[in-house]
Amino acid sequence: MTRTAIVTGGSRGIGAAIAQALKEQGCQVAATYAGNDEKARAFTDETGIKTYKWNVADYDACKEGVAQIEADLGPVDILVNNAGITRDAPFHKMTPQQWHECIDTNLNGVFNMTHNVWGGMRERKFGRIVTISSINGQKGQFAQANYAATKAGDIGFTKALAQEGARAGITVNVVAPGYINTEMMSTIPEKVMNEVILPQIPVGRLGDASEIARAVAFLTSDDAGFVTGSTISANGGQYMT
Ligand code: NDP
Repeated sequence: MTRTAIVTGGSRGIGAAIAQALKEQGCQVAATYAGNDEKARAFTDETGIKTYKWNVADYDACKEGVAQIEADLGPVDILVNNAGITRDAPFHKMTPQQWHECIDTNLNGVFNMTHNVWGGMRERKFGRIVTISSINGQKGQFAQANYAATKAGDIGFTKALAQEGARAGITVNVVAPGYINTEMMSTIPEKVMNEVILPQIPVGRLGDASEIARAVAFLTSDDAGFVTGSTISANGGQYMT
C-alpha cells in the first residue's frame, strides 16, 4: 500500500534526507518549507519530490496546506514534524522575540501540523507521527533555554499523544538527533566545533542526515506498529538516556 507522507522543513538538511528516505520506502512525499524558494526548487529538481511553502507557526496556513496536499496526493498517513529553528542567546540576553520565535515554530508548529492530520488518521485507523526533537531538549544546552524548552516539549507532547492514538492505530514517536552536519551547524564557530563539541561525541564525528532519516523511516513504516511514545536518540553516544 502506498502511504502519503508530509515532512515539514523537508526541502533541505535533515528533512530533505527524511523526505528522500520515505520516497525510497515507497511513500508519496510532500516536503514543506518556510521561504527559501531556491533551495526548494533545487530539491524538487533533484528528487522529484513536490514542495509546499507555508509557515508552520500559522495554524490556518497549516490547515490550508494539509488540505492542498491531500487534494494532490490523498489522505495523509505519515507526518514528520521536522521544521525547526534556533535563536540562541544566554538567558540574560535572550529577547522575548527570540523566545517566542522558537516556541512558535518548534512547538506551536508541531501542534498546528499534528492537529490538522489527527482527525483523518483517527477516522482511517492508521497514522504515523514522528517529531524531530534534539539532544539539547534531553540534556539542556547553554544559550538554548528557548530551543531546549521546545525540544523537551516535543517529548512530553509525544508521550501524551501516543496514549490517545494507541487504540486508533496511530503511533507517535520522537527522534532526538545529536549534532548533524547541516546548515544549522554552520553557525557554530570552527574552534567551538573542534575543541568543545567533537570531543564530547564518543564516535568522534558529526552525524549524517541520512542516519536520522533511517530511524524515521523505520518509525513510519507499517512494521513499527508496536513502537509508540518512544524517543530514539541518534547522537553518536553523546548522551545516553
Ligand atoms: P535546517 O536549518 O537545515 O532546515 C530547516 C528546514 O525547516 C528548512 O526546510 C526550513 O525552510 C524549514 N523551516 C524553518 N522554519 C520553518 C517554519 N516556520 N515553517 C516551515 N518550515 C520551516 O535544519 P536542520 O535540518 O538542521 O534541522 C531539522 C530539525 O532537526 C530541526 O527541528 C532541528 O531542531 C533538529 N535538529 C537538528 C540538529 C542538527 O545538528 N542539525 C540536531 C538536533 C536536532 P526554509 O529552507 O524555507 O528556511
